[in-house]
Amino acid sequence: MSQQITEQVHGHYIGGEWTDTAEETFESENPATGETLATFQRGTAADVDAALEAAEDAFDEWRSLSYIDRAEYLWDIYHELRERHEELGEIVSKECGKEISEGKADVTEAWHMVEWAAGNARHPHGDLVPSEVAGKDAYMRRKPRGVVGCITPWNFPVAIPFWHMAIALVEGNTVVWKPAEQTPWCGQIIAEMFEDAGIPDGVFNMVQGFGDAGAALSDDGRVDTVLFTGSAEVGHEIASKVGGEPGKLAACEMGGKNGIVITEEADLDLAVHSAVMSSFKTTGQRCVSSERLIVHEDVYDEFKERFVDIAEDIAVGDPLEEDTFMGPAIEAEHVEKISRHNDLAREEGATVLVDRFELEDSEIPDGHGDGHWVGPFVYEIDYESDLRCLNEECFGPHVALLEYSGDIEDAVDIHNDTPYGLAGAIISEDYRQINYFRDRADLGLAYANLPCIGAEVQLPFGGVKKSGNGYPSAREAIEAVTERTAWTLNNSTEIE
Ligand code: NAD
Repeated sequence: MSQQITEQVHGHYIGGEWTDTAEETFESENPATGETLATFQRGTAADVDAALEAAEDAFDEWRSLSYIDRAEYLWDIYHELRERHEELGEIVSKECGKEISEGKADVTEAWHMVEWAAGNARHPHGDLVPSEVAGKDAYMRRKPRGVVGCITPWNFPVAIPFWHMAIALVEGNTVVWKPAEQTPWCGQIIAEMFEDAGIPDGVFNMVQGFGDAGAALSDDGRVDTVLFTGSAEVGHEIASKVGGEPGKLAACEMGGKNGIVITEEADLDLAVHSAVMSSFKTTGQRCVSSERLIVHEDVYDEFKERFVDIAEDIAVGDPLEEDTFMGPAIEAEHVEKISRHNDLAREEGATVLVDRFELEDSEIPDGHGDGHWVGPFVYEIDYESDLRCLNEECFGPHVALLEYSGDIEDAVDIHNDTPYGLAGAIISEDYRQINYFRDRADLGLAYANLPCIGAEVQLPFGGVKKSGNGYPSAREAIEAVTERTAWTLNNSTEIE
């Protein structure tokens, strides 16, 4: 399936075959126009069961290949991602509403991850350690865990699946993947790539569908590791169920209520740029988006004026146009969720500084009236620890300005006062403030004098507190998809 929209109902990819029957179907929608992009089979527990059987059957042969032979299949995909960069970037943009440069960046990040995982096949995969006794060798060796169930969100529909799957596969596991229900077209294309690469039947399987299919996958005893990226609500449910099962692992990456600390020593040009990029790019629908800007009283008024001016003017529009800054929200239900968060802030005493939640008709591009449009919502509020609007993730262009007085210690206290701990930034020219933030801020992804917005695949990607348990990406994912055996070998002729 390419850019062409077809009448065909697209199936699951199980055991090297495309399925062609379904009790129910669902549609992929372009969130900028409301038009249907394609129709897909909706996965059931029976489809998940068939995919798991295929994955179990394929495991023994797949694990017997060398790392380098397994990685060869991924290299084919790496080249395809690069060759089809423009086309795939456009598909991402059409299916999840990200503006076009971000659509393409999603594809770039996917090939970075594939490159890292496939390249890693030629790197050491264990530890040789000195034994306590002469004549003995001691080392740690990794083995694949078996079947890995991957469950992914819609907001990085190409990159995140590869965070999970590239590593799981190179390490010798077989995979059953459930893409997000909002982005099945991206799921279809990725499955076609594995098919084109000739990956052995059953090594990679994909079941389309909703949360019930995801739950059938994560609950099944044949899954040895669950890799999950998505909301805290679902991630905690998966982690608590899997936690009760001996021998099964779950690595879950979840949301955040991220903050940027802007101190009295900040370069304000940089502070405004960082906050705008982090709060509004991807329409605030990134796990690392900032919803709290914690600003020192000495620079608060100037920062507020400049930030508000930009928020009033930000170009919301057709994601396929190069000059658009923000596309639509992903779906109608999500627009309602953002609206509830805006209302909650009002109810809790916010002074609203920018309310572009309902865009003017003139701001909506021609022919896009059925899109899921929202604009920036910016408010200031007196910080209080138990305000729900400062503690619950909105996942939209919804941002609070919080004025603080005192020192960096006070700013970090506010920063840490949420149940989440995913990402955050400090903007300051003072190394002591940066170092204090580095040592004391509760987060997994930290930025100094940069927008809080992305990460490189060779770094761990994950959070603390409610934001994460385990890392289903990059090098840390290796821990989740391998078993470690501690070996001791006796090279001497003496019997102990
Ligand atoms: P979501 O949790 O609603 O869905 C994620 C996936 O889980 C989907 O494939 C969905 O079908 C599946 N699912 C839903 N219910 C399930 C269940 N009961 N059992 C098993 N699977 C189930 O999240 P979303 O709306 O797709 O994504 C947005 C969320 O993801 C935000 O909270 C965002 O912060 C988070 N996110 C986190 C990261 C990260 O790396 N920390 C990255 C991207 C997005």
